[in-house]
Amino acid sequence: MINIDNLSYKYVGNEDKDVLAVNDVNLQIQKGEFVVILGHNGSGKSTLAKLINGLLVPSDGNVFVNGMNTREEELIWNIRQTAGMVFQNPDNQIVATIVEEDVAFGPENQGIESKEIRRRVDEALKIVGMYKYRTHAPHLLSGGQKQRIAIAGVLAMNPQCIILDEPTAMLDPSGRKEVMNTISKLNREENKTIVHITHYMDEAVNADRIVVMSQGKIILQGTPKEVFSHVDEVKKLGLDVPQVTELAYKLRKEGIDVPVDVLTVEELVMKL
Ligand code: ADP
Ligand code: MG
Repeated sequence: MINIDNLSYKYVGNEDKDVLAVNDVNLQIQKGEFVVILGHNGSGKSTLAKLINGLLVPSDGNVFVNGMNTREEELIWNIRQTAGMVFQNPDNQIVATIVEEDVAFGPENQGIESKEIRRRVDEALKIVGMYKYRTHAPHLLSGGQKQRIAIAGVLAMNPQCIILDEPTAMLDPSGRKEVMNTISKLNREENKTIVHITHYMDEAVNADRIVVMSQGKIILQGTPKEVFSHVDEVKKLGLDVPQVTELAYKLRKEGIDVPVDVLTVEELVMKL
């Protein structure tokens, strides 16, 4: 789905303050995969997301989305339609005053006929569980609901892949849960490839693969069990491990024999 090949990106600043935000990254993401990208602030996650979506053009290397090189300007709309993007702040993504009009905005701009738009809007709103709010005003909805509307807007363009850049960062715990449930449903039931950027560790435990970034580089990747079993390494990066993994780690330090790679409460209870 996505092929990132020796990718670098440099923000060119005033004087000699250039920032190498992405530094020689190689990454392949398969169709249908659920990948979580973790990393502390400034590690290059958003820059990487924007490079995948063609919002930024590589300084070096290439990004291919479904075989399309993001450097080719004439492919850019096709690339953005294939790999849709959801951002942190739902208020910046909502453009209309009625939910269903907002969700229709993308396909309308693609020049799709109105009957098909109607079908897509209804389907997208049902998938994110917001169909009964279709005639509501988005600004009166909760943060989690607004973010689900933003996701429906991307879905209505029928992308194969969805990139979400900290979509839960501004939400309360129940909003986060709503959005996470929606994202895993898109992966499981709609077979969408998901690239989910977050700094909440518990949002990473169900991923197929976790990619950890630091200073523009990928420094650790693997299944959640593999990545979180490197507790010391993850902590050194200023990241947390999931609460349960942390507890298991502390128990081990006290001499209690539990495995290092437990991720869920149920698992830890069983082991204990
Ligand atoms: P993350 O999303 O992981 O927090 P970013 O990709 O936003 O990281 O930033 C990576 C690096 O690039 C940081 O050092 C950041 O300060 C810098 N950076 C991000 N955006 C810009 C910009 N528009 N101009 C200059 N530097 C930037
Ligand atoms: Mg960011």
